[in-house]
Amino acid sequence: MVTFNLMITAEVENVSTIQPMGGLDDPNFLYYFKVKCGNCGEVTEKESYVMLGEVVPIPKSRGQANLVQKCKFCGREGTITMIPKSGRYLTGDDCEAGKFVPLMSFDCRGLEPVDYSFGGDQWKIVTTAGTVFENVDLSDGDWADYDEKKKMPTSVSNLQSRFDVMKT
Ligand SMILES: [Zn+2]
Repeated sequence: MVTFNLMITAEVENVSTIQPMGGLDDPNFLYYFKVKCGNCGEVTEKESYVMLGEVVPIPKSRGQANLVQKCKFCGREGTITMIPKSGRYLTGDDCEAGKFVPLMSFDCRGLEPVDYSFGGDQWKIVTTAGTVFENVDLSDGDWADYDEKKKMPTSVSNLQSRFDVMKT
């Protein structure tokens, strides 16, 4: 089993935090990514998604996983299991420092997540003035609005992500 950390960063303007709508371990927050087969290296064309609130039984075992998927090319089956309490919010300070922070970790058997996408209007953005923007869609890779409280623009741009392999 290999653990992958989803790491994200962005460029921000007057943003305090970027986070999933329901908090770090939001059961309904969707993670979209493509899946690479650990056996033959084939990468799926279509994105898969996982969320903490949804588990499926692993065939021929008593275990459960958030994703059980068979490679279309070689037929090998693999699983991905999310690890709660493994991430943290992305803060404005992180972004200013150009730092990638872990949002979620995934235990993977036989396949690995690649090409994460920030899909869905499921993000919450808190500005430096404390204004909260809910159900923000970051799928375009950027976002901009106006904070009426402090009369200042606020924005997110150049969203970036990667999956880091955790050596154990
Ligand atoms: Zn394969």
